[in-house]
Order: sequence, then C-alpha cells, then structure tokens
Amino acid sequence: MHPDVQSLLAVQQDDLQIYALEAQLAQLAPRLTALEKERAKVSASLERAKKAVEAEESRQREARGRIETHKQLAERSQRQYESVGSPREANAALVQLEQTKRMVEESERDADQIQGRINELRHQVADMEAQVAALDVQQVETRASLGADHARLEAEVAEAARKRVERAAMVPPRMLNIYERVRVRRRAETVFPLRGASCSACDTAIPTQRRASMASSGALEMCEGCGVLLYAAE
Ligand SMILES: [Zn+2]
Repeated sequence: MHPDVQSLLAVQQDDLQIYALEAQLAQLAPRLTALEKERAKVSASLERAKKAVEAEESRQREARGRIETHKQLAERSQRQYESVGSPREANAALVQLEQTKRMVEESERDADQIQGRINELRHQVADMEAQVAALDVQQVETRASLGADHARLEAEVAEAARKRVERAAMVPPRMLNIYERVRVRRRAETVFPLRGASCSACDTAIPTQRRASMASSGALEMCEGCGVLLYAAE
C-alpha cells in the first residue's frame, strides 16, 4: 500500500472515532428530555387530582349543609307529630316525619359517598406526590451522570481531533482535499480498498487501466457505482 494512502487511512480512523463520539453525545440530551416529559406528565396528573379533591370537598360542604337542613326539618316534623290533636292530623304528620327522615338518610348517604371519593383521591394525590419526588431525585442523578458523560465525551472528541490534525499533516494536501469533499457528504467511512477488480463497498468493477495507475501512483479513484474513494490495497 502506498504510504500516502496509509496516512489517509489513519486520518479516516480518527474521523470515524469522532463520528462515533459525536453520536454518543447526541444520545445524551434525549435521555434527560424523556425524564422531564415523564415528570411533567405525572405533575399534570397530580394537579388534576388535587383539583378533583377540591371539587369533592366543596361538594362535601354542600352535602353537610343539606344534612343540617334536613335534620332541622325532621326535628320540626317530630315536634309537629308530637303536638297534633286529631288522628287525621297525626297521620299526615307521620307521613311528613317519615319523609323528612328519609331526606336526612339520603343526604347522609350522599355525604358518605363523597367522603369515599375524597379518601380515594387523597390516596392518589399522595401516590403521585411520591412519584414526582422520586422523579426529581432521579433527575438530579441523571443530570449529574449525563454531565459527567458529556464532559468525558467532549474530552475524547478534543483528543481525537488533536491527533487527527497531526495525522492530516502527513497526507498530501491534494489527496486530503479530495477525501474531505467526499467525507463531508458521507459522514461515514469514505476510503475503501479494491477487492480484486472491484470496489469493496459496492462490487462495481473497475477498469484494468485505472487499477494499474492506482497501484503504481497510490492515487485515489472515485467509484462510479457508490461514490466512495478507492485505493489499491496491494
Ligand atoms: Zn463502489
């Protein structure tokens, strides 16, 4: 292999390493975003549950007011029943008394049902508050771990970029230019060896004459099939 090609392959190794590190860097942010989204979701549910508790508590106050009103009605009916003279009046007063007692029972049942819902909702609120708190702790940990990963990857990119500058200086400028033009477009492996008479990336056959000149001069040739740069390996 021509020494210029060898130098270029070393540069390509650095570029591939930098791409891999950049891909890892790009994966860091979505992890935190996902966690923030999850927290926002739980937090919104928590707010809804708290509002629902408030609404039920307001209903509960109304229900207790109705119990009081109905109890007063029942007491009045009781007094009326006790004070009537004739049997006919007594009968009507009894009907009235029983009706008001039923009203008291119904409003008490309502209040019990509302209290049941309030208890359930308060449990939900407590669960969600615990979830939000756990996510907050997790977020602090994740932020710290992402921050550490980010700093480490940035340092690795800087180190790879520094090595790359040194290695790129060993490649003839013209060859480096051709490589850069293709690499920027591909953002992936750019230089491939010939395999037999063909491009090792796509298997397109390369004419004998071009292969001969590649072998003698170490020049790169662009594959007409897939656009990568080819070199003669032997
Ligand atoms: Zn090809």
